[in-house]
Amino acid sequence: MSIQSHIEWTDATWNPIRGCTKISPGCKHCYAETFAERFRGVKGHPYEQGFDLRLVPSKLEEPLRWKAPKMIFVNSMSDLFHERVPDAYIESVVDVMVKANWHTYQVLTKRSGRLRETLSHRLRHAGDQEHIWWGVSVEDKEYGCPRIDDLRATPARVRFLSVEPLLEDLGTIDLSKIDWVIVGGESGFGARPMQKEWVASIQRQCAKYRIPFFFKQWGGHQKSKTGRLLDGRTYDEMPTLSLAKSREATQQPTHPLVVLGTA
Ligand code: SF4
Repeated sequence: MSIQSHIEWTDATWNPIRGCTKISPGCKHCYAETFAERFRGVKGHPYEQGFDLRLVPSKLEEPLRWKAPKMIFVNSMSDLFHERVPDAYIESVVDVMVKANWHTYQVLTKRSGRLRETLSHRLRHAGDQEHIWWGVSVEDKEYGCPRIDDLRATPARVRFLSVEPLLEDLGTIDLSKIDWVIVGGESGFGARPMQKEWVASIQRQCAKYRIPFFFKQWGGHQKSKTGRLLDGRTYDEMPTLSLAKSREATQQPTHPLVVLGTA
């Protein structure tokens, strides 16, 4: 994978792990799996083994070689806290993020219990880093909302929710200690529909507690047609922390859209 992400809304992806396994309804149409499986068996391709989980130590030091500050989506093709990723390897990934601190990292997981456990004990220092943002995916009440409680209990400077694909009305959400909320509908073939009121409800709750809200897309079979307007406007709010500062220092333009895809 090139450092420049093919995802239009992030600067770069960094995949020191490839592959994953499904854990909840939000994984049903995992784009990472669809992408990876396309190359299964293609000799020499990074995804020759499809979506089978494997560590890629040769990718570990990549961010240290990127000199200009970037917003980096960590493991866009996997989940750092997958049960088969050894603790020592998670530690190596964190070591690089701590060292290459001119970047901002977005780490998104569905394995919120292991995130909480790891940052509470073994990697407590990782949560103190303002340039590492820790997030959980939330697709529904049953599987997604309990992850928010795990995230809240995780010692971290910046916590965010990726509410995508939003599969039902989440009702009232406890947003205490949450710094950023992204919402998006599922896209692609067989996409499950998202209702406007589900999105509007989350937007209102974020506005009430002044939490930056980012509306990524309505999704659907052809997401370019459904767009990303909510009540006639876009919502591109995001935490204004270290990336903004580092960009100021190097006089780089601020990227208008920076949000996540999977895990
Ligand atoms: S990468 Fe994310 S969406 Fe895909 S299977 Fe893993 S946890 Fe599920």
